[in-house]
Amino acid sequence: MSQRGIAVLGSTGSIGTATLRVIARHVDRFRIVALTAFGNAALLREQARSVQPEYVGIVNRNGDGDPAWATGAECLVEAATRPDVDIVVNAIVGAAGLQATLAALRAGKRVALANKESLVIGGEFVLRACSEGGGEIVPVDSEHSAIVQCIGGRPASEVSRLIITASGGPFRDWDAERIARAGIQDALNHPTWNMGRKITIDSATLANKALEVIEAHYLFGLPYDRIDVVVHPHSIVHSFVEFVDGSVLAQLGFPTMELPILYALTHPDRISDAPARRFDPAAASPLTFEPVDLERFPSLALGIQAGCTGGAAPAVFNGANEEAVCLFLGGTIGFGDIPRAVDSALSLLGDAPAESIGDVTAADAAAREHVRHLFRQSGGASKSPAPVYV
Ligand code: NDP
Ligand code: MG
Repeated sequence: MSQRGIAVLGSTGSIGTATLRVIARHVDRFRIVALTAFGNAALLREQARSVQPEYVGIVNRNGDGDPAWATGAECLVEAATRPDVDIVVNAIVGAAGLQATLAALRAGKRVALANKESLVIGGEFVLRACSEGGGEIVPVDSEHSAIVQCIGGRPASEVSRLIITASGGPFRDWDAERIARAGIQDALNHPTWNMGRKITIDSATLANKALEVIEAHYLFGLPYDRIDVVVHPHSIVHSFVEFVDGSVLAQLGFPTMELPILYALTHPDRISDAPARRFDPAAASPLTFEPVDLERFPSLALGIQAGCTGGAAPAVFNGANEEAVCLFLGGTIGFGDIPRAVDSALSLLGDAPAESIGDVTAADAAAREHVRHLFRQSGGASKSPAPVYV
């Protein structure tokens, strides 16, 4: 069997390291040919020593990287488009992942997409790059992986509704006032998933679920009124698909990202793997579901509204949210300021059209600048140049 060449972008993060663990169990099928990181040279060096890739890139060398490594943001596109790469695992966090997704799809690669922000901000352009370049997107996000698995190749005309599950995050039971005053450690204390800091905060505001609704809209081509969200605190059911005859399928399992990562590499095949914990319905029960509360989690409502508005609104939503999360993690603003900042950016900038990728990146930059300006004015200045969630 010939090995498939893999580029792992964002190899030093939560999804990146999980990807390396998955691939280490399947070296007969997969060979890592490229790795990239933002600035964690120590871990990148260790990974490179272990997997011996042909190409290593670090966006920000900071003095302690290997002189042989490629540097600068261009390394992401270089790694993603190499001829020896068949599958690009895009595990970069944030809007910084967009150009690599576009380039990989234009070059006809399969993109195992963890970087949902690519689809949220560049949806139409990402789909166009995919069809023009002959590439393929297989989602890594557990909910979307579940949906792909439930749809099982049936035509879109047979799907009537998607129901995306949400754990509800650490503030599921908190009242609105307490949520607004939540501290950084409270927000980083996710009940069921161990993830990078940015997505963990997004899971506390439920902005992550809004990003996932928009992601599902583009991946599966359904209008927003046929994509629902339900809170399911134990994260066992990873999502539901309702078909036109009323039948509902779900995909279940104890929470682990290793399964959706492996499936994104092997889709539509399944290969033998040893799950960390086999499924046990008795241990998983009871499975409970509750409606989502948009009043206490305004980021979710704002994001879905941005998706419905279309144009540059999803890019404004995402850019404002990324900037606000960065300011929150830096201790500059409070938790309740995150949806306030996003709301303010959308009110001012949300009507902009998106006729080109340039429009999208301009909307993203304007949203970030608006949020920085908002808090400079109110005394909470941030001088940090780049949104890095470390
Ligand atoms: P992490 O913060 O753990 O890792 C992010 C990775 O991206 C790191 O390798 C980091 O490098 C790199 N990176 C950060 N900024 C840049 C940049 N500007 N340019 C290039 N590379 C950059 O994030 P996660 O692994 O948690 O999340 C990655 C993506 O996967 C996100 O889009 C998230 O929404 C999605 N996702 C994550 C899940 C999870 O379980 N973690 C679940 C579902 C989706 P360095 O370490 O050097 O800073
Ligand atoms: Mg998810």
